[in-house]
Amino acid sequence: MKQLFFAIVFLFAITVNAQLKSPAEFSQSYGKTASYYHQVENYFGHLVQNSEYIQHKSYGQTTQERSLNVYYISTPENLRDLENIRQNNLYQIGMADAKPAMVNDKVIVWLSFNVHGNEIGATESAMSVAYELINPENKDSKEWLENTIVILDPCLNPDGFSRYGNWLRDISGKNTHPGLNDREHMEPWPGGRENHYSYDLNRDWAWQTQIETQQRMVLYNEWMPMVHVDVHEMGFNEPYFFPPAAEPMHDFITDGQKDFYNAIGEMTAKKFDSEGWNYYTRERFDLFYPSYGDTYPTFNGAVGMTYEQGGIGAGRAITMNNGNLLTLQDRINHHTAAILTAVETASWQKDKLVKNFRAYFKDSREEPKGKYRTYIIKNTGKTDQLTRLLKRNKIQYAYAAESKKASGYNYQSDTTKDFTIEPNDLIVSVNQPKATLTQVLFEPAQKLTDSLSYDITAWALPHAYGIDSYALKGNLSIDTKKEISYKGKFDYERIYAYYVPWNGRASAKLLGLMLKSGIRVRSSRKASAFRGIKVSPGDLVILKGDNPQLQDFKNMMESLLDKKRDYEVVESGFSLEGGDLGGENYPLVATPKVLLLAGNSVSATDFGQVWFYMDEIVNYPVSIVEIQNLERVNLLEFNTIVLPDGWYSLPESDKKSIDTFIDNGGKVIAIANALSVFEDRPGYSLTKFATDEAKLLETTLSDNETLESRFYDFQNAERRALSGSVPGAIVENILDKSHPLSYGLGDKYFSLKTNDTHYQLLKNAWNVAYVPAKYKNFGFIGKSLKKKLENTVTFAVQQKGKGQIIYMVDNPLFRGFWENGNLLFSNALFLVD
Ligand SMILES: [Zn+2]
Repeated sequence: MKQLFFAIVFLFAITVNAQLKSPAEFSQSYGKTASYYHQVENYFGHLVQNSEYIQHKSYGQTTQERSLNVYYISTPENLRDLENIRQNNLYQIGMADAKPAMVNDKVIVWLSFNVHGNEIGATESAMSVAYELINPENKDSKEWLENTIVILDPCLNPDGFSRYGNWLRDISGKNTHPGLNDREHMEPWPGGRENHYSYDLNRDWAWQTQIETQQRMVLYNEWMPMVHVDVHEMGFNEPYFFPPAAEPMHDFITDGQKDFYNAIGEMTAKKFDSEGWNYYTRERFDLFYPSYGDTYPTFNGAVGMTYEQGGIGAGRAITMNNGNLLTLQDRINHHTAAILTAVETASWQKDKLVKNFRAYFKDSREEPKGKYRTYIIKNTGKTDQLTRLLKRNKIQYAYAAESKKASGYNYQSDTTKDFTIEPNDLIVSVNQPKATLTQVLFEPAQKLTDSLSYDITAWALPHAYGIDSYALKGNLSIDTKKEISYKGKFDYERIYAYYVPWNGRASAKLLGLMLKSGIRVRSSRKASAFRGIKVSPGDLVILKGDNPQLQDFKNMMESLLDKKRDYEVVESGFSLEGGDLGGENYPLVATPKVLLLAGNSVSATDFGQVWFYMDEIVNYPVSIVEIQNLERVNLLEFNTIVLPDGWYSLPESDKKSIDTFIDNGGKVIAIANALSVFEDRPGYSLTKFATDEAKLLETTLSDNETLESRFYDFQNAERRALSGSVPGAIVENILDKSHPLSYGLGDKYFSLKTNDTHYQLLKNAWNVAYVPAKYKNFGFIGKSLKKKLENTVTFAVQQKGKGQIIYMVDNPLFRGFWENGNLLFSNALFLVD
């Protein structure tokens, strides 16, 4: 009987395996053209149905309602014990309190594919990697899985992947076009690289502005992998890239992590050598900016790595500049070999990886690498959004429950100062599992081992959020509490007006919702005081007396204010200081009717940042029109036009209609290179130099550099080019605090400068935020640019005719994470009029 039972099981096992198909057996078009997203899901469904080595979990949905998936791949025994293995891993690093049942340690390897949607060789290879891991014929991979849990995410960006893949299918005929001259290699705007809102998800790991990232990071934090592989493609002529990465490396990266980069480099090189494939390591892809798929896991204790195959723009097949043909199948083959080698290396080095990973959390807590141990963020009403970010990153925090004197580094003045910690101030201590990540995000200055970086080099959260903050060198002993307490419900009969502080995106969103609901709202233009309430410029006041037209005013206000809990009520419009609520200092806010330009010659990511701001951050209606259709639009239906960063070459007729739009009372918000539309044109104040002498001075400086450069060698050309550039640094700006564009920002504005464009202070305009002489900066600014930025304007407003134009030299919405930038943009949209 027993024997018969085994025979049946054996037979069954054979039939199960016999049904397991490779991707090519499953789909005829595999390796020949892009898979549709549903085909990818179907294939993984097939694997799950026919193998005990793989399980599925859906972790969320994209904006376009595609499912986000991971697949757990390991031996059936390990998969049965998955929950214990997960709990044990968290427990060992201090991220779970309860000790689970005894389990054997496993190495946890997370494989992420296709965060950039048009890099399809990644998702296509995910199917091959999964198949090879579970294929019973592949005895090696079965051995690796004994001690390894693979978490495989075949596509981090299904919306972008589908945009590219569907397009490629749309335009493909029977024949491929290995030559360049076919639309197959010319992806249309906005391209599939980014997600629905044209956000680059591989710049979003730490900031988590996008729902794909937010949902993924919940699962990531439940697992905390030890190895993270981020699978990409790059320009199609490039040979394959695998670790080790390039300098600069952040100096918090440990020797243990670097050891593994080298081990994996050697193993992968051996594999590629034997196949005769071209590759390189260490020359590009540095490890500094913390919001990538390699650095972010690295600052979370893992060995985080980027893998790159040439393939962007390659379509189905292309001839490379060495004359070789590169097909989609080649891209799949290279990736599959490299990623399987990563799993193999992790399995081989399991003991070391597990040991190093646990030591990482213990050491970073006991001997933190940064300069400071405690960060105090003053309660200026702006901490709410910051705590959301901390929560998403599983960084623990508390609020002060008592007052205490202290001394520490003050971010805003860049000096050490005495100050008082007050109840409700936010406290973040490094003494927690996410010690390193906390320091990476909060340390005022990051140590750059090499200036040759292509991304931003500073991001300290107190500057990004524009909150008065301190960093203390020691631990702090103080009574704390978990929540800020707000006042309860107010008696409606006694309310004369509602008061809402203007201190962040929640204020702007609430204002947008009120305007959409037809509620009349006033914004303060002057500091004033009412009983128990100090009103600052920009703060919102909603008078009962303004809104008799709304039957349901009371209920509308109560439900709207539910999400903005620092609101107050005013019982009398009679001020103690400043002006009464009925007076001229509280003008009604006009309702913006917004037109946003898009299309070719607008930067897709920068367009996406404005679109996302309108749609998701303030949830306010916006009309999007592609530039070539501008003449079809009746501009009279709008009072605001936004021009995102781009490379504009507008026809004269379009420029004329924009001129007229402004003269008639319209408002234009122009960002970064969109300023070129107005530079040196009659009627506009925007010009690079204030005087002829200033122009001469900068020309002389540049001439001298050219003369000096006659003695330069060829080798360091790239490095020298950096001296005139700023890949991304924080730059101090002085504010005209009386102008509505600056309301709520604080005493100063720290701008994230990501381009070297600069204009001297403008004549006949309000220079609302400008870089002073001897300004402070954090992060790398090339030495020849540093001086030139003195006395240049960053945000200016010019009155023209009945309307105005807001010049934004820096993009305040860059990647959506500069929270004070979101507020500045809200000022431009709602308060400047
Ligand atoms: Zn990529």
